[in-house]
Amino acid sequence: MKGKVYIVGAGPGAVDLLTLKAASLLRAADVVLHDDLVPQDILDLVRPLAEIVNVGKRCGRHGTSQQQINALMVECASRYCTVVRLKSGDPAVFGRLGEELDALREAGISYEVVPGVTAATAAAAAASFTLTDRRAASALVILTGHNCHGQSLSRTLLDPEQATYAIYMPGPDYGTTARELLRLGLDESTPCAVVSNAGREQQQTRFLALNELESVTGVAAPAVLVVGKVVGKTNFDLAPSSAQELFQLASNPRPFV
Ligand code: SAH
Repeated sequence: MKGKVYIVGAGPGAVDLLTLKAASLLRAADVVLHDDLVPQDILDLVRPLAEIVNVGKRCGRHGTSQQQINALMVECASRYCTVVRLKSGDPAVFGRLGEELDALREAGISYEVVPGVTAATAAAAAASFTLTDRRAASALVILTGHNCHGQSLSRTLLDPEQATYAIYMPGPDYGTTARELLRLGLDESTPCAVVSNAGREQQQTRFLALNELESVTGVAAPAVLVVGKVVGKTNFDLAPSSAQELFQLASNPRPFV
């Protein structure tokens, strides 16, 4: 029987900024595979009998390759019930989440992603400033100083194909938003997800292409619209998916009715 892998965000590094769910999974885990940035006092929550493996791979130092980490997750799931893959911040932000989900899906292992406080919001809180302000800043772009194609920051910023847009307060007029994104240069087949009540009991997700966004109505608040190549998909060796395929790929799709 195969175990379940929880890909868990550890937040910025303070124990009291862990989510309650992350803390209880750490207490229940049979094995924890963690990154370098996770401090010892968070690992101290793990049961003494559980196995703890540092799979960190800091720049310039020889560490565990991504392929080895993927293989280790799969192997641990065949030996243990509860496997925690612990990452700093939020797993979906520069956390190689896509590659790890690919490996788990390929191996037929069940999984769940648990979000964490990401560095940008932790930094803003630490220094007491806001990231958006209705008078001064209506967008938050998260980007990396390092990427695997060696592209410059300006190229990344100017290329809408390189961005994921998480649009807060998107409703009720999804059509206008879609037209603005198309004007920006996004392809009409760009995948979109409308996620309502994310992480709550009533969570609902709808996947569709950018040119279908106009048809979206009646979304329960609060909702967020996410637009970009990564939406609903992790395996970029595949040909572009149709909205239907995207929908099937999602681990726990619950369509609007
Ligand atoms: N998944 C993480 C990011 C991993 S990439 C997240 O959501 O936060 C690693 C980078 O995150 C670091 O090089 C640094 O830029 C940033 N980072 C992570 N924790 C941080 C912290 N506590 N304070 C400031 N920056 C942090």
